[in-house]
Amino acid sequence: MLKWLDVIKFANNGNPIPDKRVEKTPEEWKKLLTPEQFTITRMKGTERAYSSELCSLFDPGKYSCICCDTELFDAGEKFESATGWPSFTQPIKENAVSYHKDISFGMQRIEACCNTCDAHLGHVFQDGPAPSGLRYCINAVSLKKTAVDEKKIDFGGGCFWCTEALFQQLKGVVKVESGYSGGNIDNPTYREVCSGMSGHAEIVEITYRPAEITFEDLMRIHLSTHNPTTLDSQGADKGSQYRSIIFYRTEGEKQSAMKVIDELQKSYQDMIVTQLEMFEHFYKAEDYHQDYYNRNQGAGYCQAVINPKLKKFRDLFRNKLKE
Ligand SMILES: [Zn+2]
Repeated sequence: MLKWLDVIKFANNGNPIPDKRVEKTPEEWKKLLTPEQFTITRMKGTERAYSSELCSLFDPGKYSCICCDTELFDAGEKFESATGWPSFTQPIKENAVSYHKDISFGMQRIEACCNTCDAHLGHVFQDGPAPSGLRYCINAVSLKKTAVDEKKIDFGGGCFWCTEALFQQLKGVVKVESGYSGGNIDNPTYREVCSGMSGHAEIVEITYRPAEITFEDLMRIHLSTHNPTTLDSQGADKGSQYRSIIFYRTEGEKQSAMKVIDELQKSYQDMIVTQLEMFEHFYKAEDYHQDYYNRNQGAGYCQAVINPKLKKFRDLFRNKLKE
């Protein structure tokens, strides 16, 4: 547990090493954030006191950085400070937040930033509740909350119309969205991704309840429902946008993913070439790509390509399907 002395030490002698770093130019952040989010996180702004309902919200869950999605605080550490800003008494991990001396406005304060992307979060004070005695006074705008019983994983395995249609049918899967990730431009369009020049893969972002379907199950289903042994291609679809890829969010997920790949390698003659990459950002695809199969069941592609895939998938994983 961090105490005031630790915070002072970090501010004076340097901050702990984060698990990963996300760095972007102000122009790149501007494209990802709303003007208000940009002003507060990238320009060290402060929201008006009591401007967010988040102050009085104490449901279980986790709070992540609005800029880079890194988990920063657990709702269990949130307390009612009556200051008008969401307040926490501890970060989720010792290296989640970085600390910096701030002498602006004639005050001596310790600024709290996201240690992954340097987003300004707020300040830390030594008048918090025991046992840590810390009060992290945080702008609600710099946070997003995720329910504790839901997680996300991002998979690429060829055309996202197919991948989305499969995962939508699984018990424990709350939401599937089609999009892009893993490339080198912000907010890519379908056309840019199709050209192969953006470096992005067509992926789906799956929101699931680990109590109903495990990460390992999702991995097994993903690797058994596309061909993970063909580099940069999937059937007739050729190009790096169709590569087989898994975006993990934690070291633990990476280890689990490697274990499942080892386990399934036995059932393939060729080498599994699925990439494992740390998740950075999910760019949601254009609206007409979302829920594509369900909205276009009569279309030639759905009948010729997706239907046979779905049938095979439903036979293989009958006991994991929604009613
Ligand atoms: Zn961040």
